[in-house]
Amino acid sequence: MDHEARVATLPGARFRARAQRRVRHLADAVLGADNRLRIRVTQWLITVIVYAGCGLVFGLAVHGDWVSVGGPALAWCVFVASNLVAVYIALRTGWSARFQDAGLTTVQIVMGVVAVCWAYVLAGPFRTAVLLALLLTLVYGAFSLGWRRIMAVTGFALLALVAAIVIRNGAVGADSGRPQVEGLRIDLFNLGMTTVLLPATSLVAARLSSLRGKLRLERRALKQALGEVQRLATRDELTGLPNRRHMQELLDREHARHERSPQVFSVALIDLDHFKRINDCHGHAAGDAVLRSFALTAVAGLRGQDVMGRWGGEEFLLLMPGTAADQALASVQRMLGKVRHLPYMADEALSFSAGVAEYRAGDTIAQLLEQADARMYAAKRAGRGIVRLD
Ligand code: GH3
Ligand code: MG
Ligand code: MG
Repeated sequence: MDHEARVATLPGARFRARAQRRVRHLADAVLGADNRLRIRVTQWLITVIVYAGCGLVFGLAVHGDWVSVGGPALAWCVFVASNLVAVYIALRTGWSARFQDAGLTTVQIVMGVVAVCWAYVLAGPFRTAVLLALLLTLVYGAFSLGWRRIMAVTGFALLALVAAIVIRNGAVGADSGRPQVEGLRIDLFNLGMTTVLLPATSLVAARLSSLRGKLRLERRALKQALGEVQRLATRDELTGLPNRRHMQELLDREHARHERSPQVFSVALIDLDHFKRINDCHGHAAGDAVLRSFALTAVAGLRGQDVMGRWGGEEFLLLMPGTAADQALASVQRMLGKVRHLPYMADEALSFSAGVAEYRAGDTIAQLLEQADARMYAAKRAGRGIVRLD
C-alpha cells in the first residue's frame, strides 16, 4: 500500500472525507447544484447575514432600553423575514429564472429600501447610522443592473426616505403635540447628505460594474484569440492537418514515451507523385483542391491512434503508435489503394510514393525520418505509386 492510500485509510482522514462529503451535500441542498443559481442564492445568503447582523445591533439597543419600539419592530421583523423566505423560494425553485432579472435584484433592492426606511422611522435617535444600509443596498444593485434601473432605484430610495421623514415627524408631532424642530433638522441634514451621496455611490458602483463587464468581455475575446493562435500554431491552413511543427512535437512525445516504456511505433513519409504536373496542367487552385481531398481521404481511413500531418508541400508524415513495420506497410498500402480511386481528375489517377520505417531502440527521431525518407526516394526511383519498407 503506498503512502497516500495508507493516509486515506486512517480514521482521521476517513472522518474528514465524510465530513467534507456531508458539507458538500448540504451546500448542494441549500444553494443548489447549478452554478448560476448558486451565485444568486449565495448573494441572498449574504443579504440574510447582513440583515441578521444589523438586526442584532438593533435588538441590543432595544434590549438596553436605548430605544423603545415595541410592536412595530416585530412587524418589521415579520416583513423582512417573509420577504427573504419568498425570495429564497423563488430563486431556489427556479421560478425566477423566467425573468430577465433572474436574481430578483430589483425586487430585493426595493424590499431593502423599504426595510431601511422603515427602520429609519423606528430607530429614533440612532436613525442616521441606519442610512449606511441604504448605500450598501444600492451598491448591491449596481453590480447587476443597467444604468437606468440603477438611477430609478436610487430615485425610489430618496423618495422612500422623504416618506420616512414625513411619517416619523408626523408620529413624533402627534406624540409630543408639537413638531420637534431638533429632530426635523437631523432628518433634513440626513436627507441632504443622502441626496448627494446615494447617487454618487450608485455611480461609482455602476462604473465598477461596467469595468467588470468589459473585463469579462476582454477575457472571453482573449480566450478565443488564444484558441485561434493555438490552432494556427499547430494546424496546416490548407488541409487542416497537424503542421510540421506539431508533428515534430508528437514524434518527440512518442520518442519520450518509448524511452519510459518501450512500445513499438512506425512512421511513413508520403509524397504525391508528379504533383507539379497537376499544377501545370490544371492550375494551382486545382492542385490545392487535390491536396485537400487527399488529406480527407487519407485521414478517413486512419485508425484512432494514427496521426497524419502535412510535412511540407505535397509531402505528408504518418505517425503510427503501437504499430510494427509490417502492419504499417499494410496500412499505407491500403491508403494508396483508396487514393488511386479518388475522382480528382478525369484523365489521371492520383498516386503517391512512401517509405515506412519502424523505430529502433537507441535511434533518434531524425534517424528514423532519414530512413523513411530514403525509402520514399527508393520508391520514386522504382517507378512511383509504391510503398517501401527497405
Ligand atoms: P515527384 O513524383 O518526383 O514527387 O514529382 P512532383 O512533381 O510531385 O515533385 P516536385 O518536387 O518536382 O514538385 C512538387 C510540386 O508541389 C511543386 C510545387 O509547386 C507543388 N506544391 C507544393 N506545395 C503546394 C501547395 O500548397 N499547393 C499547390 N497547388 N502546389 C504545391
Ligand atoms: Mg515532394
Ligand atoms: Mg511529389
